[in-house]
Amino acid sequence: MNIVLLGAPGAGKGTVAQELVADFGFAHISTGDLLRAAVKSGSELGVKAKSYMDAGELVPDQLVIDLVKERLQADDAQKGFILDGFPRNTVQAVTLDSELGAMGNPLDAALLIDVEPKVIIERLSNRRTCRACGFTGNASHEVCPNCGGEMYQRDDDKPETIRHRLDVYESQTAPLVEYYKGHSILKEVNGDRPVDEVYADVKALLAL
Ligand code: AMP
Repeated sequence: MNIVLLGAPGAGKGTVAQELVADFGFAHISTGDLLRAAVKSGSELGVKAKSYMDAGELVPDQLVIDLVKERLQADDAQKGFILDGFPRNTVQAVTLDSELGAMGNPLDAALLIDVEPKVIIERLSNRRTCRACGFTGNASHEVCPNCGGEMYQRDDDKPETIRHRLDVYESQTAPLVEYYKGHSILKEVNGDRPVDEVYADVKALLAL
């Protein structure tokens, strides 16, 4: 099954993806994680992407599209994947459709995790991420419960950047809800509830 996760930053896309990967073995393709790894490694892509990420802006389409195209070719992605954080605008969505069409491996669902902006701001301010494995936790996690790695607050989870990221989401990414509705693959879940309830609904919506 090939799934796109939609939703504002902090809606819970990463958490739902982690659960689906653990239970069903889909490949997890998070452009945010891939870009953060590129920044950490100091690669040319990482150097180009860093200033956009720190400012809460989208990284230029072509850089992200190249990254995703390459990742989609990997063996594990042929058995089903979850795209988390991609596409982020209409250009990326159209490019994705044509790429997957050419591969004969189209999307099955676009899952919108819907959460109110007020809740998002609280969640992102409290969010902590594992430097080693990318696990998403909160300020109560001193070390990563997954791998014991160091938990840190992403630069773009600082209050001054959060508001801007939400504006970018509203103006550039939210229109994809209509795009996927038009393709008759949109599913919606209320993400403003405990993780277990959200995940149970996700599985039911995806018939998993
Ligand atoms: P995320 O972890 O998905 O919140 O992404 C963190 C940051 O990486 C975003 O604020 C963007 O700067 C960049 N990014 C991630 N995915 C994309 C994408 N599909 N297009 C452009 N920039 C992206």
